[in-house]
Amino acid sequence: MPGRHRPPRPGARRGRRTSRAHRGGVPAGGGRPAGPPVAGVTGPRAPWRVHAVLPRSVANGPGTRYVIWSQGCALGCPGCFNPETHPADGVGGASVRTAGEVAADVLADAAHLEGVTLTGGEPLEQPAAIAAFCAEVKARSGLGVIVLTGFARREIETDPARAAAVADADLVIAGRCGCASARSATRPASSGCPRRRGSR
Ligand code: SF4
Repeated sequence: MPGRHRPPRPGARRGRRTSRAHRGGVPAGGGRPAGPPVAGVTGPRAPWRVHAVLPRSVANGPGTRYVIWSQGCALGCPGCFNPETHPADGVGGASVRTAGEVAADVLADAAHLEGVTLTGGEPLEQPAAIAAFCAEVKARSGLGVIVLTGFARREIETDPARAAAVADADLVIAGRCGCASARSATRPASSGCPRRRGSR
């Protein structure tokens, strides 16, 4: 099951990591420190609060994938595996980049990747950035995009911004952790948000 692993610690040194523990990885870096979200900007210039990235992972979906942890989640699932990603202001080294900047990093390494996994935190709390990123990656590469979200399918489909955010995704794994009734797929298959501690 993709995406059930903890993000690398922001500030850890760069390096290829494929282990389950992800001891190390890559800080969100390259942007300004995370702060309040900037509303109203769409497209490649849309700001994205990023907790951390891992340029090569085999533990977050099929094949070798670029993994991006968004910063900020207000859904509050009991036993969440990644509580450090909850504050929207990004304590601990998160930063704000643009969707276009993050996409450019991914596309520069596309030849060595099968796809991208977006997790968090809650990616769909920043729908403009996710929409722009997915559109850019899908338009310029053959990479598959997986989005892990705690929002349920109905919460996505009834919210235009969230629906637009995943319009170009290949697979959306949706639903709160620990709430089987909320789990659903908006793309080919799903198992619900797998970021709850101890989930399998
Ligand atoms: S499990 Fe996912 S959706 Fe739930 S609080 Fe944690 S990051 Fe947010």
